[in-house]
Amino acid sequence: MEKASELTKIKGIGPGRIKHFARLGLFSLQDLVSFLPRSYLDYSKPVSVAQAEDGEPAAIEVKFIGTPKTFRAKSGLSITTVSIADETGNITAAWFNQPYIARSIPKEPGGYALGTVDKRTGARLLRAGFSKELPGIIPVYPLTSGLTQSVMRMAVRGALDLCLEGTQETLPEEIREQYGLIPLKKAIETVHFPKDTDELASARRRLAFEDAAVLTIVLEKLRQNKKSQKGIAFETSGILGEFLELLPFEPTPAQFSVMNEIALDMASPQPMSRLIQGDVGSGKTALALYAMFIAAKNGAQSVLMAPTEILAEQHFTLLKRFFGDRAAILKGHMSAPVKREVLRGIADGSIIAVTGTHALIEGKVEFSRLGLVITDEQHRFGVRQRAQIGKKAESPDTIIMSATPIPRTLSLILYGDLDISLVKGMPPGRKPVKTQLVPSEKRIAMYRYIEQRINKERTQAYVVCPMIEENEDLERVRSAETVFDELKANLSIHTALVHGKLKSAEKDAIMESFRSGAIDLLVSTTVIEVGVDVPNACTMVIESAERFGLAQLHQLRGRVGRGDKQSECWLLTESRSKTAISRLRLLCETNDGFKIAERDLETRGPGELIGMRQHGISEFGAAALASDIETLKQARDCARKLLSMSPEKSERLMEKAMLKYNSSLEDVVIN
Ligand code: ADP
Ligand code: MG
Repeated sequence: MEKASELTKIKGIGPGRIKHFARLGLFSLQDLVSFLPRSYLDYSKPVSVAQAEDGEPAAIEVKFIGTPKTFRAKSGLSITTVSIADETGNITAAWFNQPYIARSIPKEPGGYALGTVDKRTGARLLRAGFSKELPGIIPVYPLTSGLTQSVMRMAVRGALDLCLEGTQETLPEEIREQYGLIPLKKAIETVHFPKDTDELASARRRLAFEDAAVLTIVLEKLRQNKKSQKGIAFETSGILGEFLELLPFEPTPAQFSVMNEIALDMASPQPMSRLIQGDVGSGKTALALYAMFIAAKNGAQSVLMAPTEILAEQHFTLLKRFFGDRAAILKGHMSAPVKREVLRGIADGSIIAVTGTHALIEGKVEFSRLGLVITDEQHRFGVRQRAQIGKKAESPDTIIMSATPIPRTLSLILYGDLDISLVKGMPPGRKPVKTQLVPSEKRIAMYRYIEQRINKERTQAYVVCPMIEENEDLERVRSAETVFDELKANLSIHTALVHGKLKSAEKDAIMESFRSGAIDLLVSTTVIEVGVDVPNACTMVIESAERFGLAQLHQLRGRVGRGDKQSECWLLTESRSKTAISRLRLLCETNDGFKIAERDLETRGPGELIGMRQHGISEFGAAALASDIETLKQARDCARKLLSMSPEKSERLMEKAMLKYNSSLEDVVIN
C-alpha cells in the first residue's frame, strides 16, 4: 500500500480516493500516465444543430438559449431541459435526476453546449455541459464506481505534470526519423490530451510502435530460448488408430492435417510450441485430446488449461472417456482433501492427464513427468503466462488453442514465438447461425417468439448481457439481473441466471442443469463466452450488442449452431450510431470468423480483436489502439533490426521489456 500513497502527491487526490484507483490497477503515477483513454469526445470543431449526428458527441454554438425547466415524469424521474438553437435549428439539452444543474446553465447565448446527440424523441443533447471555448478533444477513461471522468482527467493531468519530465526516450533518433515517429514524451502527453485528431493519430502511432517493438523483443527472446532447449522425442507411430477408435466421430480433413502437424512436432526432439487457430466449433478439443493421448502412451503427463471452471469441467468429462481413473481436474475452489489427493496423484504419476483453470499455473503443482501443456482459448493467456507455463518442467511440448480468429499479419506479431496451425472449415452437418439485428421496439415480440420455439421444440436459449448489475453511467444498457427478473416474470419457461460473481459451485450447478435440459433459458454475462458446448441450445440473444467487440460477438454466437436444428442469433441494440450498426450488420452477413476478424481489424484496429477492452490484456498496450497493421509490422521489423545492431541501440527497449515481463523473463533473457 506504500506505493498507493504516491497518488496523493497529485493535487486534489486524497487518501479517500486511493482505493477507487486501486480497483483499476492504478497505484503509481506511472500507472496513471500509462492508463490510456478508452475513447475520446471530439469537441475540437463546432457542429451546427442540423449537422449534429445521432449518437455522436457534438459541440453546438449557443446562439439562443431558453429558460431551464424542471419537471417530474410519470416514472418519478426528474427531468431538466433547456432549449438551445442556432441558425439551422433547435435542440433540447436534457438532464435526468439532476435538478441542481439548472443553476449552472448560462442565461445568455455565447459559448458552446457539449453533449451527446440523441434523436430518438426529437433532437436532444444528453449529459450536456457548457463551455466558453471549444475544449478540443476530451479523453474518456475506463472508470469504476467512485470515480468520475473529471476526477480521472485531473488525476492523469496531475500525474503527467509530476513525472512526464523523467520519461526516457526509448528509440534512437535515426530510427524515429526513419519511421516518422514523434518523441515518446510528446506522444504520452498527446494521447491523453490531444489538440486535434492529426496530433492524436501520430501519438497513437508512436505508442503503438513502441509497444509492438517491446513485444517483439520479448517474443524473439522466448523463441531463441526455446530453440536452445531440449524436449522429449515422443514415439508416435501406431497411436493414431487406437485414438480414432475412442473418438466418437471421424476427424475432418482439416483436423487430420493438424493432427499430423502435432504428431511430427511431438516426435521431434525440439520442444513443440504451436498455436492452433480455429473458429469456434471447428473441433479443436479433439486435437488436444490426440496430443494428450500421444503423451500418455509415452508415459508422460499432460495438462489442459481452461480459462473457466465451466470449460474445465467439460474437458474433464472428455478426459475421463480417454484416460479413465488416470484423468483429474484441478480448480481453485475444491475441498482440501480432494485437492491433496489430486496433487498427490499428479506428483506420483498415477494421474496422467489433468485439466483445470489458472489455479494450475498459480498454485504449486509438482508433476512426476510433465510432457505436454495445452492452453485452451489462448486469448485469455498472455505472453507472461506463456513463459511461465513452460517453466513447470524441463521442456514440455506446448500447444495453445485459440478460437479468436486473428488475421495472419496480426498473429505473427502477437505470437511471433510460435508455429501456427489453422483448422479450416467446420465438422460436417453444421448449419450456419442465422443472425439478425433487432431494434428495441421488437424486443418483446422477439422474446415471445423464443418462448414459443422453446416450448414447441424443447430447444434451449442463451441471453447474454454486457454486465451483471445496473450501472448509472450506462442508462441504456440492460443488466443480466434486470433481464433475468423481467423474463422470469413474463415467460412460461424455466429461466436461470449465471454470472462471474456467483460461487463456483453455484455456477457449476446451474451450468449442469442447463446442460441436462432442466433449464430452458440461461441469462448470463460473458462467462459463457468461451467453449461451452450444449448442442441443444440453438437460440442466442445478445442484449446491447453494440457494447461488445465483433470478434467477441462472433465468439458468443459460437455457443449455438452446435446441433442439427437451425440456430438463430438476435442482436439487440438501442444504438443509433451508424458505425455501430454497420459493424453489427457484418455479423449478420457472414459466419466466417476470419472474415469478421479482417474487417474488424481494418475498421476498428487490433484492440477489438484481441478483446483487450473486455479482458484488460495490457501487454499489447497502446498497440491495440493502432488502427493500421502496417505500423505494427514496421515496429516488428524495426525491433528485429535493433536487436541485430549494437546492444546500446535497443538498450532502453530491452529495459522496458524486462520491466514489463520481469518475472517471466528473468531466466529467458540471458543472451
Ligand atoms: P472448438 O474448436 O470450439 O473447441 P469443439 O472441439 O468443442 O470446438 O467441437 C465442437 C463440437 O463439434 C463438439 O460437440 C465436438 O464433439 C464436435 N466435433 C468436432 N469434430 C467433429 C467431427 N470431425 N465430426 C463431427 N463432430 C465433431
Ligand atoms: Mg474449445
